[in-house]
Amino acid sequence: MIEASVEHPVKALRHQISERGWSMDDALHRGHGPSVPHVMERFHCEQCAKAVLRDQEKDESLEREMRDDDQRQQRAWMQETQQRQKRKRTEKEHEQRRLFEFLSDGSSDSDGMAEAAQLIKGLKVPQLKHVYATNQLLVSGSKGALEERILGCKKHGRLGRSCPLCGNSKLELKYAPDNATEPHAVQCKHMRGMGRPCPFKKEFTPDTKVTVLTGQLVDDAEGDLRIVGLLP
Ligand SMILES: [Zn+2]
Ligand SMILES: [Zn+2]
Repeated sequence: MIEASVEHPVKALRHQISERGWSMDDALHRGHGPSVPHVMERFHCEQCAKAVLRDQEKDESLEREMRDDDQRQQRAWMQETQQRQKRKRTEKEHEQRRLFEFLSDGSSDSDGMAEAAQLIKGLKVPQLKHVYATNQLLVSGSKGALEERILGCKKHGRLGRSCPLCGNSKLELKYAPDNATEPHAVQCKHMRGMGRPCPFKKEFTPDTKVTVLTGQLVDDAEGDLRIVGLLP
């Protein structure tokens, strides 16, 4: 308690205190969230007022620190996600390059695949897409991925029609991770919705391959494959 008189005046500060409370009902999930802030006015002597202000500043700086911490964590999380996606992309590109190099292995170019791989590189992306549409192949991924699928189609053949289940032209040959020599299935990559791929997938063996992949690589209407010399 501070004594004040006209002869001995004391400075006082007026504060606005905002309190937001949770009732017991709220805490037990029976209520309707926190109450509206209850604003009160308080008078303090100078000393107490300064202590209160110090406390408030401490609270605020703590809150700021926590907020900064949250933002740091958020940034770190986003960076990690981006790095993971980049790693995944790189892995996929490596896999495609490996497949492409295998398919176009020049050491014994008995089937003309090494030459075909070079010719395919002469196709621009719009031309690749026309060829894809004509051959009912999945259009997605890098230019390297598109080239690889045409090469696979030339080497192994294709289903020869659009997907028998959904009618889409998004077919892809599937290779086992440890075997780039022979595909083991042809699969539809159409998505019917989030996480709902078309279930069409036809497995085959090297022996039954010709009975499943009855189609061959064909040229598009513009004759793009003939122009680059991939087809006669
Ligand atoms: Zn006081
Ligand atoms: Zn399908």
